[in-house]
Amino acid sequence: MATELVLLGTAGAPAPVAGRAGISSALVTGGRVFVVDCGRGTPSGYVNAGLDFARLACVFLSHLHADHTGDLAGLLLYPWGLRAGPDGPLPPVQVYGPGRPAQLPAGDAAFQRQTTIHPELPAPGTTDLVGQILAGYAYHLNVMPLDAVMPDPGQLVRATDITVPGVVFDDGGVRVSAVEVTHGHAVPALAYRFDTADGSVVFSGDTTVNDDLIALARGADILVHQVADLGYLARHGWSGAALQHMAGLHTDVTEVGGVAERAGVRELILSHYVPAEPGAVSAADWVQRAGKGFSGRTVAGRDGLRRTLPDAGGD
Ligand SMILES: [Zn+2]
Repeated sequence: MATELVLLGTAGAPAPVAGRAGISSALVTGGRVFVVDCGRGTPSGYVNAGLDFARLACVFLSHLHADHTGDLAGLLLYPWGLRAGPDGPLPPVQVYGPGRPAQLPAGDAAFQRQTTIHPELPAPGTTDLVGQILAGYAYHLNVMPLDAVMPDPGQLVRATDITVPGVVFDDGGVRVSAVEVTHGHAVPALAYRFDTADGSVVFSGDTTVNDDLIALARGADILVHQVADLGYLARHGWSGAALQHMAGLHTDVTEVGGVAERAGVRELILSHYVPAEPGAVSAADWVQRAGKGFSGRTVAGRDGLRRTLPDAGGD
C-alpha cells in the first residue's frame, strides 16, 4: 500500500482569505491518516480530500499559534459520531505537540502584551489545549449522547506533550522525528519528519532558516516548507519593527531553495504562503523564485495537492 501526501490547506497567518484554506497537511500511510497542523478549514479539507475520519490516527501540531491549531476542536468534535466500529469506540485520536514553554515569553519595545489572558496558565501546552477543548465542549460531549448514538467521549482523544529533538512516534510502520525550529516568540516551535517504508516527508512548520531543520530533512523525498515573500510585504505597507519581526518568524522565498538544496531533498513543495491570498503572488512566481539554488523539483503547493510515495515520476 502506497503512502500519500495531501495538502489540506496552504494559507499562512490567521486572517482568513478567500480561496485558500489555513495550513494543514495529511500523510496517509498503512491505511491511517496523520494530520500535521489544524488551520482554518481542516475538517472540510479532510473530507474534500476523500479521507476517512475513521482512519484518523494522529494529529501533530507544529506550534500553538491559532493558524495551526484553530480547527483542532472541529477535527475532533465534528466526526466524533463516526469514531466507532462494531466493537465500540475506535482508539482515541492521538494529538502530539509542544508542551508548555518554560516561561511566558516577554515582549520588546515594539511589541508587548497589554492584557495577559488567563494569567493562572498563560501559555498552555498541547495537553492543556486538548483538555480545555474537552472542558469547553463538555455540554456537547455530555448531552449529545442522550439524543444520538455516540461513542464514549472518554475514548475520543489523547494528548501528548513531546520533547525534542528525537523520535516522538514509532509504531514500526511510521517513525516521526521532531526538532525545534525558530519562529519568533513561538517557543517551542517544531518541524516533523515522517519516515515510512515508501519514503520520507518533512514538514517545516513555521521557521526562519534553521540548521536543525536542514539536518532533519536530509535526504528526504519531499520537504513541505512554509514560504513568505518579505519583499511583497515591504511593498504593501510593512516596515520597521513589524517587518523585522516577520523576518524573525519565517523563511523568505529567496532562502527556501537554499534550504532544500542543503538538505538534499528530492522535491520542495511550498505551503503556508505569506501573503496568503491566492492572487497576491502567482504560483509560477512562487516556484520561479523559491526554486533558485535548488537542483530538485520545486512545486507550488495548493489545497488538495497530492503526492504518492514511492515516487512514480511525472508531475
Ligand atoms: Zn503559521
